Amino acid sequence: MKEQLPVTSPLLPPLEEFIPYLERIWTNRRLTNNGPFHQQLETELASYLGVEHLSLFANGTLALVTALQALRISGEVITTPYTFAATAHSLLWNGIKPVFVDIDPLTCNLDPDRIEEAITPATTAILPVHCYGIPCDVERIERIADTYGLKVIYDAAHAFGVRRNEHSILRHGDLSILSFHATKVFNTFEGGAIVCPDAKIKQRIDYLKNFGFADEVTVVAPGINGKMNEVSAAMGLLQLKHIDSALNARAAIHQRYQQAFQNIPTLRMQQPPPGLVWNHAYCPLFILPEHPINRDVLYERLKANNIHARRYFYPLISSFPMYRGLQSAAGRLLPNANRLAEQVLCLPIYPALDSTGQERVIDIVLDSAR
Ligand SMILES: *Cc1c(COP(=O)(O)O)cnc(C)c1O
Repeated sequence: MKEQLPVTSPLLPPLEEFIPYLERIWTNRRLTNNGPFHQQLETELASYLGVEHLSLFANGTLALVTALQALRISGEVITTPYTFAATAHSLLWNGIKPVFVDIDPLTCNLDPDRIEEAITPATTAILPVHCYGIPCDVERIERIADTYGLKVIYDAAHAFGVRRNEHSILRHGDLSILSFHATKVFNTFEGGAIVCPDAKIKQRIDYLKNFGFADEVTVVAPGINGKMNEVSAAMGLLQLKHIDSALNARAAIHQRYQQAFQNIPTLRMQQPPPGLVWNHAYCPLFILPEHPINRDVLYERLKANNIHARRYFYPLISSFPMYRGLQSAAGRLLPNANRLAEQVLCLPIYPALDSTGQERVIDIVLDSAR
């Protein structure tokens, strides 16, 4: 059996480079609670990403749950079914009703035309996802939000480092959340962040992630424990030193897939819009109905060859038992999301994927087109 190829594999810098960070933690005995590495990572990340402020979290899901709390979102929130479970779950954990809206078939992001139709008097916010790191139509979403007085929280878990026309995509909306989970482009083992436009909202979020403590004796809000620990923050600082070469490696792998499949009309890949500095967080391949075999047969064929491609995002969130009873979860209202969920297969892409491994994937996909 050939070496197993996962869909992704974490960016792990050389272990010896991590040891000095651990020695510092052991020396100063600060393990968590806004320690020195935590503070340094907030500063360095904000600068690297080109954003004003950022508050680190233990994971992206707690960042989402807390972002909704920070803006006091309630009632109904418009979101996409074509995403990871955490997006909609963060609404249920806040007692908010998700309202699913269909996606644009080319970007895989919320279709602004459908957002407006879904607004009711109970709508308070929009929770879009920059799916695969490809930006949403942020201008139109902002116009809709302004017209109807809605907040916008971007689930930017896939969008680390994504820029458009020189500007970070994370600067849009009221807040954006990031995930630094092991499977993401940039990882702190587990981790996440809320990107904040100003110091005031960051202050409130910093209170909320530490039980609501403003100082030793003052609790200003029913907060949660969402803090990132020092080992994770140190990992983040070390990752930052390696992230640019990791992003370059991803781009090269993506380009090779693109070149291999470009002449096959029954396969489609994501086309990043002009002016985008993308992070190549995922490599979704859409297996069109005219292809000789369907997505699931190709998925099984890769698996039989020890290649674990993944069907992100299938099944749709709207088909999960806790959501499928919602009016907005009906399949006829979500035709694009349902179709893409049946066609998509995310191919292995990660910095350590070598060309021998990648050619194994390409050979099987090309063979399926014959
Ligand atoms: C990974 C992910 C999350 C959750 O992040 P965690 O850090 O794993 O909690 C949320 N939304 C999307 C779209 C994700 O891909």
